[in-house]
Amino acid sequence: MNKQANPISRRTFVASAGMLTAGFFLPARGLFEDASPVTTIIGEAAKSPVTVQKLRGNLSVLDGSGGNIVVFTGPEGKLMVDAGIDVSKEKIKKVLAGLGKEPLKYLVNTHWHFDHASGNEWVHGEGATVVAHTNTKKNLARQIRVDDWRYTFPPSPAGALPTVTFAKDRTMTFNGETIRMHYYGPAHTDSDISVHFQQADVLHVGDTWWNGHYPFLDFNTGGTIEGMLRATDENVKRVTGKTIIVPGHGPVGNKAQLVEYRDMLGEVKTRIEAMKKQGQSLREVVAGKPTKRYDDKWGKFVINGDFFANLVYRSV
Ligand SMILES: [Zn+2]
Repeated sequence: MNKQANPISRRTFVASAGMLTAGFFLPARGLFEDASPVTTIIGEAAKSPVTVQKLRGNLSVLDGSGGNIVVFTGPEGKLMVDAGIDVSKEKIKKVLAGLGKEPLKYLVNTHWHFDHASGNEWVHGEGATVVAHTNTKKNLARQIRVDDWRYTFPPSPAGALPTVTFAKDRTMTFNGETIRMHYYGPAHTDSDISVHFQQADVLHVGDTWWNGHYPFLDFNTGGTIEGMLRATDENVKRVTGKTIIVPGHGPVGNKAQLVEYRDMLGEVKTRIEAMKKQGQSLREVVAGKPTKRYDDKWGKFVINGDFFANLVYRSV
């Protein structure tokens, strides 16, 4: 079930994590604006192939364009969960064509971030109805500065905005499958939803789970460590040993891996909370390496241990 990450993109992500570490105590300007991981990640997607992995039934996952994209095919058409980065359009179109001739009917966004939704406009242009949480539409429609990415996202074009939105839950039947969408409440952002293909028992949990990597918390649109833990507890309760769980980033995983992530998040939060309560400053906490025992496993992607400690400190 596991697949290797593209070694080239891994190297670039590690480089961008280093830049994040160098920049995070400094005000965003000049040099660091240029070094935004957003620019790096878009550049990487432009070069990366898009690969496909079969999951179960008519469900597949596409890798190589930012976040993991799930594709569901059948006689009524295709449904995508997330659209990836717009620079991957031609490569994704080719992979979709290889999965069947049926037209694209639906796109569901797990949240508003560019590496999951910047392909919305072209997917919508292919005829797909775009479904998302109301906050995904709200965030895509406006200009947003994400300070920790040192990047300002302009408002999305009208064609990229979700046309069907919901506040809490939405269930649809498509290709004979029951697809349940559920809002987590504020977690990684204020717009995160899960998408559960109930008969196939495949659950896309968006960026509430980065399998094998420290997650990002987007404080500019409502992310919190508390919310991430709440969402992760909910994910753990929802799945069984048979559920195929698609994270926002990292390889497709299972319940045991999800539990390991939940335990890591909980322990890092508890430790940093205690240090902060004792009066330690952000610099002191980061210098104390509170994530040390986890860094070899979790700190080698976009967010390294120092940066994750920084995010958690500011969130407790
Ligand atoms: Zn995200």
